[in-house]
Amino acid sequence: MTPSDKLKEASPTAAGPAAPTQSNFIREIIREDVKTNKYSGRVWTRFPPEPNGYLHIGHAKAICLDFGLADEFGGGTNLRFDDTNPEKEETEYVESIMRDVRWLGFEWENLLYASDYFDQLYQWAVQLIKAGKAYVDDLTADEVRQYRGTLTEPGKESPHRNRSIAENLDLFERMRLGEFPDGARCLRAKIDMASPNFNMRDPVMYRILRAEHHRTGNKWCIYPLYDFAHGQSDSLEKITHSMCTLEFEDHRPLYNWYIKELGIFPSQQIEFDRLNLTYTLLSKRKLLQLVREGRVRGWDDPRMPTISGIRRRGYTPEAIRNFCNSIGVTKTNGTIELAMLEHFVREDLNKRALRVMAVLHPLKVVIDNYPEDQAEEMEAVNNPEDLSAGTRKVPFSRELYIEQDDFREDPPKGYFRLSPGKEVRLRYGYFITAQRVVKNEQGEVVEVHCTYDPATRGGNAPDGRKVKSTIHWVSASHAVPAEVRIYEMLFTKPDPNDVPEGAEFTANLNPNSLQTVKNVRVEPSLKSANAGERYQFERLGYFCVDPDSGPDALVFNRTVALKDTWAKMEKKQSAGSSGKAK
Ligand code: ATP
Ligand code: MG
Repeated sequence: MTPSDKLKEASPTAAGPAAPTQSNFIREIIREDVKTNKYSGRVWTRFPPEPNGYLHIGHAKAICLDFGLADEFGGGTNLRFDDTNPEKEETEYVESIMRDVRWLGFEWENLLYASDYFDQLYQWAVQLIKAGKAYVDDLTADEVRQYRGTLTEPGKESPHRNRSIAENLDLFERMRLGEFPDGARCLRAKIDMASPNFNMRDPVMYRILRAEHHRTGNKWCIYPLYDFAHGQSDSLEKITHSMCTLEFEDHRPLYNWYIKELGIFPSQQIEFDRLNLTYTLLSKRKLLQLVREGRVRGWDDPRMPTISGIRRRGYTPEAIRNFCNSIGVTKTNGTIELAMLEHFVREDLNKRALRVMAVLHPLKVVIDNYPEDQAEEMEAVNNPEDLSAGTRKVPFSRELYIEQDDFREDPPKGYFRLSPGKEVRLRYGYFITAQRVVKNEQGEVVEVHCTYDPATRGGNAPDGRKVKSTIHWVSASHAVPAEVRIYEMLFTKPDPNDVPEGAEFTANLNPNSLQTVKNVRVEPSLKSANAGERYQFERLGYFCVDPDSGPDALVFNRTVALKDTWAKMEKKQSAGSSGKAK
C-alpha cells in the first residue's frame, strides 16, 4: 500500500466526489471545446496553490472546479505548487496542501512544482531576448513603478529599453551568475508602454533575489515573476483549461502574449469569481497573521476557515463539495452567507451522524419511585435518517442528569418542558413528573425530585395520554464526563475588513468566539469515541471528537448547532417570490 492509498483509505470520502450538478459557464466552454475538437477533445486542468499558507474554503471552490470538471470530461488534474516566491514558501505548507486536497476527495494525476521549470523558463527568457522581445533594465523597482504611468497617462520607456540583444544576453547571464546586488536589475518583456492594460507595459519577468528556495536551495539568485511562470507552466503541462480567479482577468493578454511569442502550447485561461463568505476572511496572508499573533490556536483551530480547521471542527468533505457545486461560478464577485455553508454541513451530517445523548449543563433529577439499586437498558435509535445504523442500549437509573434549561421552577407561559407538577417524556425512557426541588444556599435548584410512570417505558403511555415535550438525559452514575468547545463566528462583522481608517481587521475579532463547557456528561457509548468521529447530540447540534481527546478526557467541538437559519431564509425568499408571482 502506498502512503497515498493509506490516506485515501483513512479518508471518509474514499467513495469519491459526488457528480457535479449545477450548470456553470466554464462547463459550457469545455463542452464546446470538446465538441469542436479543440485540444483533440482532451481536458486537463491544474490546481496551482502557492505553498505560503494552509488552504481555505475559497481554495476548496477552486479545487472542486479544477478536479471536478476534468473528471467530468474524462481528463485529469495536476497539483502544481506555484513556488516562485522563495521567501514565503515552506515544506510544511506543501504537505498540508496535499493532505487537504486528498481529504476533499480528490487525487491528482501529477505532482509538480513551478520550480521544476526554472531551467526551461530561463531558456525561454533567453529566447525572448534573442527575438528582441525582452531587455535587462537597470531601473530600481520604485523607478519601474514611476515609469509605468497612470490610468490616464501612458508609461515612459526606460532609458535601457533599446539595449542591443548581445548586451541584454550578457547582462541577463550575469544576473543569473550573481554579479549584481538584489534588485539592481531586472528582466522585462518589451511590449507596449502605452497599452491601456498596465500588465502589458513592459512587465517584469525576472528579479534578482538572494533567498534560499525550499526546493532549489541556493541554485538561483534570480526568480521569475508569477506572470512569466504561470502560463508557461500551464503550457509545459499541456493544460487545456487554466481556471483562476477574476483578479487575473487583466493578466490574460499577457498570458496569451508569452504563449504566442514563445510559440508554445496554447493553454487558455478562464476566470471565475472568488469565494467570499460573510464573517470570514479568506486570505492566507491574514490567516497567517492570526496564527502568528496567537489570535487562534493554529492553522487548524476549528474557528479558522482553513480546510484543516473545518475538518477538525467536524465539517465533512461531502458537505463542502455539495456547497461548492451549489454556489456554482459567475463572472462577478459577490459574498455568500456563512449560513448557507452551515446549511450544507447540517444537511450532510443529518444523514450520517449517529445520535447520542449528552447534557451540556447538568441538573440532577432523582426519580423517587424508581428502585435505588436498579438500572435498565433502553433501546435507542442510532440514526432515524438511516435505519441501517441500528440501535444501541442506553442505561437508565434512578438518578439522571437533564439540561438546566429543561427545568423551570416558575415556567413562563408557553414553557412545556419540566416544571413542578408537569409531565414530560424522557427520550427513549419514561414519562416523569416533577414533584419538588432541592436548593443550595444561594437558592439555586440543584436537584429535581420526580416520579415516573412504569407503564410508559420506551416513551409512550398505554392510556394514550400525551406530553408536550421530550427531553434528553443521561444516567448520572453511567455518564462519562467531557469537555465541549462551542464556537461562534470569529469576527463580529459580516465583512471583517470593514474597520475605521487606521484600524486593522483584527479589531473585528469576536472576543467570545470560543466558549469552553467543562462539566458535560455524555452517554457511556461515547467512552471510546475516536478523534474525528461526528455525532448529533440530540436536541443540541452536531459535535466532533477533537484530537485533544484522550481515553480519560473526552473533548468535543461543536460543529454546528441544529437551528438552520439558511433553510429559513430560503423558505422566506421562495415564499416572497411566489407571493409576488401571484
Ligand atoms: P490567498 O490570497 O488566500 O493567498 P491566492 O489566490 O493567493 O489566495 P493561491 O495559492 O495562489 O492563493 O491559489 C490557488 C488557487 O486557488 C488559484 O487558482 C486561486 O485563484 C484559487 N483561489 C484562492 N482563493 C480563492 C477564493 N477565495 N475563491 C476561489 N478560488 C480561490
Ligand atoms: Mg497567491
